[in-house]
Amino acid sequence: MITQTKSLATKIRADFPILHQKINDKPLIYFDNAATSQKPKAVLEAIKHYYEYDNANVHRGAHTLSVRATEAYERAREKVADFINAASPQEIVYTRNATEAINLVAYSWALNELKAGDEIILSVMEHHSNLVPWRMVAQRTGAVIKYVGLTEDEEFNWSEYLSLLSSGTRLVSIVHVSNTLGCVNPVEAIVSKAHQVGAKVLIDACQSAPHKPLDVQKIGCDWLVASGHKMCGPTGIGFLYGKQSILEAMSPFLGGGEMIAEVFLERFTCADLPHKFEAGTPAIAESIALGAAIDYLTNIGIENIAAYEAQLTEHLFNRLEEIPQLRIYGPQKPGRAALAAFNVEGLHASDLATLLDEAGVAIRSGHHCTQPLHRLFAASGSARASLYFYNTLAEIDDFILILKETLSFFGV
Ligand SMILES: *Cc1c(COP(=O)(O)O)cnc(C)c1O
Repeated sequence: MITQTKSLATKIRADFPILHQKINDKPLIYFDNAATSQKPKAVLEAIKHYYEYDNANVHRGAHTLSVRATEAYERAREKVADFINAASPQEIVYTRNATEAINLVAYSWALNELKAGDEIILSVMEHHSNLVPWRMVAQRTGAVIKYVGLTEDEEFNWSEYLSLLSSGTRLVSIVHVSNTLGCVNPVEAIVSKAHQVGAKVLIDACQSAPHKPLDVQKIGCDWLVASGHKMCGPTGIGFLYGKQSILEAMSPFLGGGEMIAEVFLERFTCADLPHKFEAGTPAIAESIALGAAIDYLTNIGIENIAAYEAQLTEHLFNRLEEIPQLRIYGPQKPGRAALAAFNVEGLHASDLATLLDEAGVAIRSGHHCTQPLHRLFAASGSARASLYFYNTLAEIDDFILILKETLSFFGV
């Protein structure tokens, strides 16, 4: 008898309707997961079910639909809290996306707390969403931003980080997994060193939350942000985790309904956490669907996803080695994320992406919202293939074949 061990992807691919189509008469190979992930049926059905049966505004009504909507909305918050091991759902604030979550901290904490000369430490590999809000804070407060550079292996430069930390450091905001380099930064150690000098730490978990187990209590960070759409959830929903005492001390972000306890013509009082930061009617269906996405990931097992993606990464990098003319960015060793950003001399990344699309392969080309990092490499952009657990080893092989054919077509 032959026992066939099926890969994770073959077991769950049927859950993703969008993957089963042809693009330009070729089977779609979706390798743009670092930009956004696809959505399983369970998530699509959660949205449909909500609008067909439960749609009502939350937290306001006594009627059945409003109670159901509120319960589902708050249950999803509990799922997010459990997923990252927050101490309580009150530490989870829904936002539109990770970008809004970072801006919330910039406006509600940094603008109040930072003064001229205070120091913010970021790294050169940060996404624009973890650069621009702090640049805006620096412009308004006079705070100074310092950047951790890269090692020779193109990873987070730990010794440079240590040398930048001082009693003047008030905030450290660092990406967990780089969306361009694919390196995994030592967030626990980063947090513990920052806390020793009294600085607060924000972790950008956009590229880690979808792919590996996260434990905010173990990491010890003060804030952590992620976007739902990169972890099988819909667009329009993300979250901010913040330690309860810190969120309590922060001033509100946007003002309006839902975030208040009492309103008078002369003053107002804030609602309790986390509602204090959720002004106006929220993205109810999207929050509930994010809960469904988390259920889906949890049922597969985020550890299983991480283990399978490690296999994909190994295979991807083994096969990419066959193409020596590729300049791949970031560390080339196990433990990195299942993505590869690269350039080929004499070829524009967007031309490459366009031709790959003709063969059904979806990869990204451009600066991936990391322009300063690309500038360090003297590149205006790069091509990036990024994988998720529904991708297969066979898709990697097809991608490599198509990539080789395309490069020879361009004569590079
Ligand atoms: C995608 C991404 C962001 C921004 O996410 P949005 O959903 O656009 O807000 C921030 N940081 C990293 C590392 C990302 O990959």
